[in-house]
Amino acid sequence: MTSPSAPKRTKQRRGEGQWALGYREPLNPNERSKKDDHPLNVRARIENIYAHRGFESIDPGDLRGRFRWYGLYTQRKPGIDGGRTATLEPEELDDSYFMLRVRIDGGALTTSQLSLLGELSQTYARDSADITDRQNIQYHWIRIEDMPTIWARLEEAGLSTMTACGDAPRVILSSPVGGIASDEVIDPTPAIEEIQNRYLGDPSLANLPRKYKTAISGLQDVAHEVHDIAFVGVEHPEHGPGFDLWVGGGLSTNPMIGQRLGTWVPRDEVPEVWAGVTKLFRDYGYRRLRHRARIKFLVKDWGAEKFREVLESEYLGRQLVDGPAPEVPEQPRDHVGAHRQKDGNYYVGAAPVAGRVSGSTLLGVAKAAERAGSGRVRLTPQQKLVVLDVPESEVEGLQSELSTLGLDATASPWRRGVMACTGIEFCKLAIVETKDRAKQLVADLEQRLADITDGITTPISVHLNGCPNSCARIQTADIGLKGQIVTDDDGNQVEGFQVHLGGGLGLDAGFGRKLRGHKVTSAELGDYVERVVRTFVEQREEGERFPQ
Ligand code: SF4
Repeated sequence: MTSPSAPKRTKQRRGEGQWALGYREPLNPNERSKKDDHPLNVRARIENIYAHRGFESIDPGDLRGRFRWYGLYTQRKPGIDGGRTATLEPEELDDSYFMLRVRIDGGALTTSQLSLLGELSQTYARDSADITDRQNIQYHWIRIEDMPTIWARLEEAGLSTMTACGDAPRVILSSPVGGIASDEVIDPTPAIEEIQNRYLGDPSLANLPRKYKTAISGLQDVAHEVHDIAFVGVEHPEHGPGFDLWVGGGLSTNPMIGQRLGTWVPRDEVPEVWAGVTKLFRDYGYRRLRHRARIKFLVKDWGAEKFREVLESEYLGRQLVDGPAPEVPEQPRDHVGAHRQKDGNYYVGAAPVAGRVSGSTLLGVAKAAERAGSGRVRLTPQQKLVVLDVPESEVEGLQSELSTLGLDATASPWRRGVMACTGIEFCKLAIVETKDRAKQLVADLEQRLADITDGITTPISVHLNGCPNSCARIQTADIGLKGQIVTDDDGNQVEGFQVHLGGGLGLDAGFGRKLRGHKVTSAELGDYVERVVRTFVEQREEGERFPQ
């Protein structure tokens, strides 16, 4: 029993590694690595040392850490099956070739930039190219020796790989039809350009607790609900068009829908407010445990009210204007097909399967777009591609050219609705194959469900991930598939998926439910999806969307 005179024992609360509270000592190897040498310094070493001395000369801390700040990851050594992914040391999974992500803010490219991306792929990446669901282009088979030339050529064309990955502000997602859509609330392009000019590559914003994903859009077509920070177009009754600010969205473990701070931000203030939130995250974000380091954990602990208060008092030095919530559109949009722009021209969206294209395809698209009188192309967060500014008379010709390139402008709902992450072909964390699986699934569903396809007015989204991470946003899909090893009917351990059903964004924003025991082998995937879709179509009520 404690004597009445004994000092009271107060429970020590363990620090979360927040810089603003004095925890400057690195508390884990990733923080140590960033403190030892700023990740942005690695570029000079690549250009001056590694590109000349080759793969074997690369310091492991750079290879598996700092390289990411320039969009470089080692790709997976071929021939290692998914069952062994978790049991091997990182170096056993490293191939000497790299994946390289080119950041394309808003997915916005001129046709000459697109041509260059195609040429670089043909010359340095074995003609590989994927459109990612973050509007990047991802190459494979890159050699370290070629990086100085690749950077020089990209930068000459106004493109970059700066903080395409790493604990830093990554590519900014935006509507592929920003500035041309007749129904957008506001064109976000000037705000995005200003953020690029003022902050991209700023070392003081490039050592954050964890990755930091931004979306800025005048339309709700960029999955803003699951971003670390998002500005969503909204009409203020007194002040007019501007942006509603959301923070704390994210997927992977502990998925969370972002929270509105209840503010209205005019377009010319977006860069300053974006920088304020970014600095707040840098200073108050949790750096002790990697799995608690995303901004969503801070937002969850603080709540929107306190977050806004600290942002205003410590980072902006003023109060933000209160603002209304944006109106939620009834249907999600993927921009596939031909649609009229506000200037009378058309934009033409086309669908590869799960973002898989090639350098040759990109070159072909650039040429076809130019022949149709366009100079601009955008990549979409649904792994699709859109050609802008097409005169009406050229639409049909362009669509048929795109179709010969394998990009379907009148794609089936299955081709439109399927997305897939990189998967076991190249990703070191993967457990299962995804891109080829997606291709087979689309072909399979087009055949199996041909009799009911006309009745599917909105594509049913089917997203495939190669591991428990959520690069393909599985929790927000109607049918989300998380790669894992499962047991088949004969008791064999085979590739398969845990199913999440009924996720969605927009009107019914919420995460798909992981149904206990709902696992499917890769071989049975077609059967499974067919069964789910047929049941839905047979039992749905008039106008009902996929059940949440
Ligand atoms: Fe790799 Fe997993 Fe992300 Fe797919 S979800 S790209 S397998 S980390």
